[in-house]
Amino acid sequence: MTEEIHCIGCGALIQTENKDEMGYTPVSALNKGIESGEVYCQRCFRLRHYNDIYDVAMSDDDFLRLLNSIGQTDSLIVYVVDIFDFNGSLISGLHRFVGDNPVLLVGNKVDILPKSLKKGKLTQWMRERAHEAGLHPIDIVLTSAKKKNAMFDLLDEIEKYRKGRDVYVVGVTNVGKSTLINAIISATAGVDNVITTSQFPGTTLDKIEIPFEDGSLLIDTPGIIHRHQMAHYLGKKDLKLTSPTKEIKPKVYQLNAGQTLFLGGLARFDYIQGAKTAFVVYVSNELYLHRTKLETATDFYKTHVGELLKPPAKDEVTDFPELVRFEYSIKEPTDLVFAGLGWITVKDPGVVAGWAPKGVDVVIRKALI
Ligand code: GDP
Repeated sequence: MTEEIHCIGCGALIQTENKDEMGYTPVSALNKGIESGEVYCQRCFRLRHYNDIYDVAMSDDDFLRLLNSIGQTDSLIVYVVDIFDFNGSLISGLHRFVGDNPVLLVGNKVDILPKSLKKGKLTQWMRERAHEAGLHPIDIVLTSAKKKNAMFDLLDEIEKYRKGRDVYVVGVTNVGKSTLINAIISATAGVDNVITTSQFPGTTLDKIEIPFEDGSLLIDTPGIIHRHQMAHYLGKKDLKLTSPTKEIKPKVYQLNAGQTLFLGGLARFDYIQGAKTAFVVYVSNELYLHRTKLETATDFYKTHVGELLKPPAKDEVTDFPELVRFEYSIKEPTDLVFAGLGWITVKDPGVVAGWAPKGVDVVIRKALI
């Protein structure tokens, strides 16, 4: 039996198989580490040498255990969501786990949404969606970790609410939690030393602790992967195409009932019943949209998926799940959300259907814009 080795930085069990999970170390680094008697996982190594954090995933059970343990502390919870994929960012049951601890809700990737969207409207909308999920955040901050904007606003809010307590940063993977923490560190390092990056590594198993000046800690926790998201079914190249990196330019389509819109080969929107009206599509600017007749759409897809309708690329079509249909009757302005891909705003009453690969949800919510 091989001996179990733990990272001396965070205590995670060292493994060399899965890059995105806790304790990953490349074999070469592991061998060097064993020689020198100091084995760090890649995450702690990068943190020590480059002040760079990246997110790792943990199993659902471990994640629940972690949330539970946070509920038993007296702390401020900073909950990071991706505004572009709000539904996909939700951690179900979070409100039960946090107990009486205050939650500061951070809407990240604000740079992706159209600039015309007013901040006040966006935060109000987030508050309503949070309430629906049973969460009552003490405040909401909008950030773009990528552009490093609003980092001082965020730190001010954290200071205001933590009242000397530790701060836990939670979020599912891919919401930009690591980018955000790195941006916080770089915003504070050398400025007023709110966070003393030089003394990291008081880390404990599966968490990374960054000390504030008063000795309390900013604690970064691993995320969980939401398997119903589109990202799970796409290769790296396709993912680049479908994850917006800059401001989305909404595309408006005037559709009659009986028309279909394909979002590449990844999803499909049918307008089934209602008067001729405008539909606004919010997806990555790079994604190809194709309008066709509803009647022949299923055959059209079969013929063109992987070629005209892509992603998925031709060689990925056989592994790509079939599209599954969700029908909705619309009464008020509504977004039809394709988890992780974007949404289509339906302003007028009517009947529509959204199709997504089996396993990915199509849900409706009150229109954001
Ligand atoms: P984590 O898994 O939550 O730690 O997420 P990462 O920090 O690794 O970010 C996931 C992806 O989102 C990366 O491709 C980032 O470049 C991107 N990202 C993070 N923050 C932002 C942001 O504020 N705006 C945009 N457009 N992309 C972001």
